[in-house]
Amino acid sequence: MNALFDQKTRASEPVLNAIAHMPTRSLSVLMDEGFIRTLTDTHFMRIAALLAQKSYDEGGCPIGAVIVDNASGRILGKGHNTLVQESHPYNHGETSAIQDAGRIDFSQTTLYTSLSPCDVCATLIRMRGFKRVVVGDITNASGNEAMLREAGVQVDILEDSGAIALYARYRRESPALDLEDWQGVSGVHQ
Ligand SMILES: [Zn+2]
Repeated sequence: MNALFDQKTRASEPVLNAIAHMPTRSLSVLMDEGFIRTLTDTHFMRIAALLAQKSYDEGGCPIGAVIVDNASGRILGKGHNTLVQESHPYNHGETSAIQDAGRIDFSQTTLYTSLSPCDVCATLIRMRGFKRVVVGDITNASGNEAMLREAGVQVDILEDSGAIALYARYRRESPALDLEDWQGVSGVHQ
C-alpha cells in the first residue's frame, strides 16, 4: 500500500504534526522514502517543537525530541517530557526519544531537541555515543553546549521561534512546574 506522504507532499505544519503524533514504529504507513528525502534539519526541529506542543496540550512541560538516522533520514525515536503525564520525576524530551529508539547505535544518528539539554540529558547524550545534537532553543535555557562540544559532540544551534515562544509562555504560566522539571520537588521547596 502506498504511504500517505510521498515526494510530492509539502512538509507543511499539519503534515509534520501528523508525523509528531504517529507512533514511531508506524511511520512507514504515513511516509515513504521519497518524502523522507525532502526533510531537512529545520523540519526535524519543527517535529520536536510539535512534540513539545503536544506535551503542553496534555498539561505537561513543553519539550520534545527526535532522533534521526544520518544516512537514511528515517526517524528512529521521538518523544516528549512526561513529568506530569506519567508522574515521572526525570523523563525529559531527550530521554523519552532515546527510550523510544531503544537499543541501537546512536553514533550514526542526530538528536534534535526543542530546548537546550539539562545536565542529565547532556550526560546521557555523551554516554550513548551521539555525535551530533541540534538544539532548538538556547534563549530560555543553555549551558551544556560547551560540555558536549568538549566531549566531541557536534552541537548545532537551530533556534525554532515557535518552540522558544511556547517555552517562555509555559514558564510564565507554570513557574513551579518549570522549577520542578529542572531541580525536582526539593528545588520547589527551597
Ligand atoms: Zn533533560
